[in-house]
Amino acid sequence: MTGHPIEVQQRPAQSEWYDTSREALQTIAEGVTQLAGFGVAAISVVRDDGKLEVMAVAGSDEAREQLEGTRTPVDRLEQEIEKADEWGLLRFVPHERLDPSIGDTWGWVPDITPLAEPDAWHPLDLLIAPLYDEKGELRGTLAIDLPVDGKRPGTARRQLLQRYAEQAGRAVITALEREALSHQVRLAEAARQVVRRASAQLRIDRILSDIRDALMRGFQARGLWIQTIDEDGHGTGAVYSADGVQVVLTGELMRIAETAARRAWEGQRVEIVQRGRPFGPSISGEDGERILGFLDTIGIGSLLFTPLGAGPECLGNLVLTRTEEDADWSSVEMAAALDIGHDLGRAILNARTFEREHQLVEELQALDTYKSQLIATVSHELKNPLTAIMGHLEMLEASPDLTGTTRTSLAAMERGTNRMVRVVEDLLLLSKVGDPDNPVIPAPVDLRRIVDDVVDLTSVAAERKAIELAVDAPREPVLAIGDHDELDRVCANLVSNAVKYTPDGGQVTVALAACGDEIMLSCSDTGLGISAEDQGHLFREFFRSTNPDARSQPGTGLGLAIVSRIVQRHRGRIEVESELGKGSTFRVLLPAAPG
Ligand code: ADP
Repeated sequence: MTGHPIEVQQRPAQSEWYDTSREALQTIAEGVTQLAGFGVAAISVVRDDGKLEVMAVAGSDEAREQLEGTRTPVDRLEQEIEKADEWGLLRFVPHERLDPSIGDTWGWVPDITPLAEPDAWHPLDLLIAPLYDEKGELRGTLAIDLPVDGKRPGTARRQLLQRYAEQAGRAVITALEREALSHQVRLAEAARQVVRRASAQLRIDRILSDIRDALMRGFQARGLWIQTIDEDGHGTGAVYSADGVQVVLTGELMRIAETAARRAWEGQRVEIVQRGRPFGPSISGEDGERILGFLDTIGIGSLLFTPLGAGPECLGNLVLTRTEEDADWSSVEMAAALDIGHDLGRAILNARTFEREHQLVEELQALDTYKSQLIATVSHELKNPLTAIMGHLEMLEASPDLTGTTRTSLAAMERGTNRMVRVVEDLLLLSKVGDPDNPVIPAPVDLRRIVDDVVDLTSVAAERKAIELAVDAPREPVLAIGDHDELDRVCANLVSNAVKYTPDGGQVTVALAACGDEIMLSCSDTGLGISAEDQGHLFREFFRSTNPDARSQPGTGLGLAIVSRIVQRHRGRIEVESELGKGSTFRVLLPAAPG
């Protein structure tokens, strides 16, 4: 064991692979101690940081406690075995040749007194088998100490040890491979989780910038780029490349990638492009060569090409790159990449749908603003000429020398003008109550007074139709909070509609009640009623019922639109309950004045 300078480090987090690998190595170490007759055997593996980590120690609890998990730089070992005798796979450095300058960095040294014989084992003797892989790279060691008979091993024992060294070599490689694979699985899974989470975002650029680093880390990639296929199915969309490295793909390469992406998505597979490896079915030989040529120019050894898509639609591709030294992609990584292609594809599709909807909403909003502005402008422009016409009509009508026909014509003109004035006034009010720059200035408003006034004003029309107009309200004031004139308008519109759309002899009831922190104003009639379909459009500007009986009444279709906007800006709500032929109830709920 001697010759191992020690650096105690925290063990990597124990995991399943770690335990299984360690167990296999432990069994071999046990074999060496029990069957080859040694007091201690230790197996180490080479880690990425160039250090040997002791994974299994058998024979002595004391040695095990001291050694397990410790790390030694590989080059230190290499220096040591330069002085060694070669015994097949084993290297033996007798203590006489050890470098005394290393001093107290030495590892576990057994507390024994060597026998007084020429081939006696000395506590500082080093016997170790460096374990190489097929490529001749050092992957681990099997170190042996304390021969039970106290002697340096003879030929027979060396042969036995040689067999254990071979076995340990295989076990170390398997352990390392398993470990690397499980590492990849964890990395790729972590990347996938990040992609999943990012997929909740609704903007493609945000999704891509969120996942870039995770993908690079998760796939231990040198770089990546993502190309999305435009909605018209042809474009190349944007190419997002990894930080720092500006990837400029030629139009030709983008086209190659696009074709390959479609084929790969159809076949649900990823492709690897790497020199010396046949191209997969999604990439033609000619295209593959062009890609390789490009990779050479940017110093990349291989790429993992993943199609992105959702359902039958291919939406782009994700390319992960690696340099020459580390160019291989495992099947675990390929499977994870394909999964990510699905997750990312779905996210791109969602983002696209969202962007489209967002755009549509913006267009609709612009249209709505335009409409409001148009209404406001036109009604303003009409108001003054109408006032002038009305004035002149009044003057003319006052003239004494008018014939009967002229008088009739003037009366008709006045009716028409009055109607136009009403429409213009309604339009002006509609744009006023729909203007976000003109908010309600809230004050307590007694709805009881408003109801009384409105009922007074409407009673003439009601009497004319023999309609019974009743009020069901408390005697005392009922205070809502809002704008007096606007709430008056709400009440007036509802009551006049009820009278207008109720045939002679019917009944209209206006009710008022306080319900908690709300005030309820309702207007019920026994009139024409409104079909379920019409009820869905009642509050739209210019809507008039499809019912011919209702249409025969004069109206602009603006009254309820005004009511609903006023209620809305008072933070209230309005409900309708109606049945064709039976009657209607409009219910308005408004915030009550505090206290
Ligand atoms: P107008 O009465 O000027 O047509 P409104 O916006 O006030 O416009 O009403 C829209 C439509 O709703 C009316 O045309 C009418 O068909 C229907 N309506 C409104 N109130 C009632 C009611 N109380 N009974 C039946 N139909 C109604």
